[in-house]
Amino acid sequence: MKGLLLAIVLPVLQVHEVPREYVDFVCAVRQLECGAVPAPKLRFDTLPYGALGMFRFTDPDTVWLHLGLRDPVYAQAILAHEVSHYVDYRLGRPMDRCTTEAAAFRVYHAWLATHGGLADYARYDWFTTYGCYR
Ligand SMILES: [Zn+2]
Repeated sequence: MKGLLLAIVLPVLQVHEVPREYVDFVCAVRQLECGAVPAPKLRFDTLPYGALGMFRFTDPDTVWLHLGLRDPVYAQAILAHEVSHYVDYRLGRPMDRCTTEAAAFRVYHAWLATHGGLADYARYDWFTTYGCYR
């Protein structure tokens, strides 16, 4: 029983480093210069509000992924999305909801398109979910 509990709790406690590739990908897609931006930390947890990934101002050096994501390409695309928010924060770029989400979903779709996941996971309606109409 104790072993089972540890098996469930340990992944939540572990802190990982996001591979540099994600920061570089975000900055290439968005045409940003961010060689001085360090890679963020990555943690896994069950997230509130049905979120699958999260960036929090209260802990801006960490991005979060939902513990239950099973498809690696989907999880990677969500991670790239969250790293885009992190890069906005680190570079002091606009963090209003619609501006930062538009950029993050551009990165998300670019990741899917280059890793074979667009047909399954595209979110072409993201702006209706977030209330970001033009
Ligand atoms: Zn987002």
